Amino acid sequence: MRLGALEAGGTKMVCATGDETGHIEERAVFPTKTPAETVPQMIDFFRERAVEALGIASFGPVDPDPASPAFGHILHTPKIAWRGYDLAGVFRKALAVPVGFDTDVNGSLLGEVHFGCAKGISNAVYYTIGTGIGAGILAEGHLLHGMQHPEAGHVLLRREEDDTFEGCCPSHGACFEGLASGVAIEKRWGRPAVELSDRPEVWDLESRYIAQALVGTICLLSPRIIILGGGVMEQAQLFPLIRGKVTQLLNGYLDTKELSDMEHYIVPAACRGDQGILGCLILAGQTVNKG
Ligand code: ZN
Repeated sequence: MRLGALEAGGTKMVCATGDETGHIEERAVFPTKTPAETVPQMIDFFRERAVEALGIASFGPVDPDPASPAFGHILHTPKIAWRGYDLAGVFRKALAVPVGFDTDVNGSLLGEVHFGCAKGISNAVYYTIGTGIGAGILAEGHLLHGMQHPEAGHVLLRREEDDTFEGCCPSHGACFEGLASGVAIEKRWGRPAVELSDRPEVWDLESRYIAQALVGTICLLSPRIIILGGGVMEQAQLFPLIRGKVTQLLNGYLDTKELSDMEHYIVPAACRGDQGILGCLILAGQTVNKG
């Protein structure tokens, strides 16, 4: 069965075809402009390839509750043209196929659970740390949604004593995203993260904020693995710093086999950037199997 996958991001839309085994046939990337400009191109892509189901993992906030009238809509995003847009519904109508839908981070997590470093694990967390911050959560084998979906980028953190940056979240100032996103790094240090690789003080501070957030996650959700993806995490020097600081902050309070093997506990994504699109293929397949 040919499945369609759409990883809907704030700057680009990745479309692909493939199957449930994780084989990706073809892909195309469209810049995220307005729905009127971008959506018809994507519909053509999937229509020409006669996909039999589509999985969408979208930037948010979104409504991922199939029982809700706003299921598959993008909600109160700062990207005005997409606010209130019925993303899943438009594709369902245009292609006349079942459409599975979830958050971008749950999509990436699903990819890692089926094809990457969280295979066979039923409690896992996937963070994307880039322009924004979010997390997908798998709890006892189920993707967690709750009343809408988790907003892990907006947990409030304790500001580090040597940090004078006020934080850049318009709603909270100094939340995780306000202190540690790619945008926060650029505002604090005056240059984008990619140009700061050789500044150890940048990554020392960044790792302290990420470690604070992860300790909260570990205590709250008890995941067996934490996967860190997104543009900021391409700075590979962050991983050992984060692992060390998480151990330090936990201060021996928890004693599990996972935490005693930090290199396999806090890890980079294993699907080499394809985790989102692979997760969409799984979402598509699940929609068909649900009938
Ligand atoms: Zn915030």
